[in-house]
Amino acid sequence: MRQPLVVGNWKMNGRLGEAEELARAIAGAEVDWEHVSSGICPPFPLIDRVASAVQDSPVGWGAQNLHQEDSGAFTGEVAGPLLKDLGCTYVIVGHSERRDLFGESNELVAEKFFAAKRNGLIPILCVGETEAERDAGKAGEVVREQVQAVLGDGKEDVFRDAVIAYEPVWAIGTGRTATPEQAQEMHALIRGLIKEAYPITGQSLKILYGGSMKAASAPELMAQEDIDGGLIGGASLKADEFIGILRAAV
Ligand code: 13P
Repeated sequence: MRQPLVVGNWKMNGRLGEAEELARAIAGAEVDWEHVSSGICPPFPLIDRVASAVQDSPVGWGAQNLHQEDSGAFTGEVAGPLLKDLGCTYVIVGHSERRDLFGESNELVAEKFFAAKRNGLIPILCVGETEAERDAGKAGEVVREQVQAVLGDGKEDVFRDAVIAYEPVWAIGTGRTATPEQAQEMHALIRGLIKEAYPITGQSLKILYGGSMKAASAPELMAQEDIDGGLIGGASLKADEFIGILRAAV
């Protein structure tokens, strides 16, 4: 059985005061914590605050990005060892906003994935197609390539202790969720790819859905066989919504 996981990606939102308040509200919520895991990924400077707010609760925390090297002259970047020092459990890699707005290629995303693993962090690898790619019938091909870039020659069981998030680009921040059937189809494809190389890892791998998930749409999505939780953007900034999603996951 895969325990559901619900992660909040705050993106470039949150100020000092409200971050702590939001994190506390989530950590203190009445949720069946024995049956759902959760994490909050705030902007880098808020990680320590969020950590203090949730540290005595079942809620974990993480980052939205990391640099592929462990230290050095990379002005403005943040490396895995520091995230580990900050007690992060998770780090998101290859979010579509990073790929699209900051030019991150499949190869760079793979390097970041391995930097996370090397530092004992759980990478949440984001994959997903654009609307044009879906319309051209290429959704499967695009996502397969994104996963393959990390899997490589399949000689190593790299998705052990990792998470994948399927986030169709056209559903992110648009209010348009994928239908449960569309999402399930892609999740099954992703799981199939990993299972081909590593059956046990493929079976236990958590695959999250991301893209306009709200408390109202969560139950139907989470009921799909291969959807193991959510990576939540907008709705993770509202305590009620995020808590609603956590409840729907159980
Ligand atoms: P929204 O939930 O705002 O659509 O964002 C999803 C996302 O990008 C999470 O990483």
